Amino acid sequence: MSNPIILYKNDKMRLEMVLNQANIEVIPFGVIDHCIDFSCLIWAINHSTLNSNKVIFNLISLTGMSLAGGNLWHKMTHQIKKSVKIVYKNINEFFLDQANAINEMCGHEYYVESLEAPFHCKNCQIDSYYLMLTEQIRIHNFKWLVSPMKCTKCNEVLKFSWIIEDYFKILESSHSKSEGVNYANG
Ligand SMILES: [Zn+2]
Repeated sequence: MSNPIILYKNDKMRLEMVLNQANIEVIPFGVIDHCIDFSCLIWAINHSTLNSNKVIFNLISLTGMSLAGGNLWHKMTHQIKKSVKIVYKNINEFFLDQANAINEMCGHEYYVESLEAPFHCKNCQIDSYYLMLTEQIRIHNFKWLVSPMKCTKCNEVLKFSWIIEDYFKILESSHSKSEGVNYANG
């Protein structure tokens, strides 16, 4: 793993890139809004000489995203050359809000590895986000099902606290299916 390269920086955010042996990992720290300039990122991805041609957007440190930021993200993903595989991990509520509002924001073709999902514990009376792997979410009889999750404090089985169809819209158009995700059909 190389040291992170800073591709862009303003007073609200920093865009870092790490070159691994098999892929490029891109990590935004902070808020993505109308100020962001993705031109260095697009150039770096499209001129990469890596064999695997895979870019992983790791959203673990994203703390906000405006609609304008989402529109620029849309533009960025559509400027990445088609041979590059786009993968998302640690998708959070900020990213999801815009991704569900902006058509094809994540790219023409993309894969989701993991995302945060909202759960409620009736014991603790607490709402929290838990990171889920795409494998833990599946479609059964046209309905989304999530693997049972337990509260990290009291071990109670948690209740999904959002409209599930709305929340997982991002997975509908993703190609995670062909990545071995278990969408049960019986
Ligand atoms: Zn609890």
